[in-house]
Amino acid sequence: MTHDRNTHLLRAALAAAERGWHVFPLWPGDKRPALHGEKCCPRTGDCANGHLKWEQRATLDPDRIERCWAHGPYNVGIACGPSNLVVVDLDMPKSPDETPPEEWALPGITDGAGVLATLCERHGQPYPDDTHTVRSWRSGTHLYFAAPEGEALRNTAGDSGKGLGWKIDTRAAGGLVVAAGSVFGGRPYETVHQAPVASLPGWLAARLRPAPLPEQQPVTIALAADRRGRWLQAAVDGELARVTGSGGGQHNNALYIASVALGQLVKGGELAEAEVTGWLLSAAINVGQGEREALRTIASGLKAGAARPRTVAA
Ligand SMILES: [Zn+2]
Repeated sequence: MTHDRNTHLLRAALAAAERGWHVFPLWPGDKRPALHGEKCCPRTGDCANGHLKWEQRATLDPDRIERCWAHGPYNVGIACGPSNLVVVDLDMPKSPDETPPEEWALPGITDGAGVLATLCERHGQPYPDDTHTVRSWRSGTHLYFAAPEGEALRNTAGDSGKGLGWKIDTRAAGGLVVAAGSVFGGRPYETVHQAPVASLPGWLAARLRPAPLPEQQPVTIALAADRRGRWLQAAVDGELARVTGSGGGQHNNALYIASVALGQLVKGGELAEAEVTGWLLSAAINVGQGEREALRTIASGLKAGAARPRTVAA
């Protein structure tokens, strides 16, 4: 019996690693890393040159995985950072008395999935469930996404009031998820949508970027280097500079004008809406605008711009 459980978990660990996800052992039937902490580091093996944390020790190497899981029925942890994953964790209330805070006390919202559906509606985006999906022991949903290249997105906790919303956590660099095949509270984590991992939608990435530095940073982007690309680059740079260079009290107005101008190019098929929204949002945040207000302004500007589509002559 124990042997079967070991084999099952070993297979789960190998399957995750085959997908390119860096795995490490969690305590059997638990979600806590089964590797020693810094305080009890023996300074041998992996730690011979200094203590390594689970994120650094997580591996893709099948030999190491076989050796580790031969020792016991460890649950499988995936280190999201080295695996380039951003996992959106849609949780369920822990009890029927747990109701949404005022901000999310809306018809139809009973869990994290309801909050995400509402966010999608507000952003005019499809519900992003066409990606690899795991159901947690508590019937929560883990949506797996590929992290945007070269960007360290943060873990967020919905119940802290700073994440995406009530009952939505995100796991990225520095975070872990319990992989399918593992068990907690006697109940399994199971893959419920065996799909490839989709890219993290741009509007979600925009909402998960770390808080901006207090100093104003220039917003820079890089489009194709051909003639059309150069024209677009200049157009985008100009509009972003309009926002980052706007004076106090003028930020929202500048953001609206920039959104209208870029909205024309989006409707003309020259730029992608999600990307444009991300750029404009970064510019707005850099000048200290609130994210909610900025997103509203961007959306209405893009909508106004869409009434007069613009294309670039080749
Ligand atoms: Zn150590």
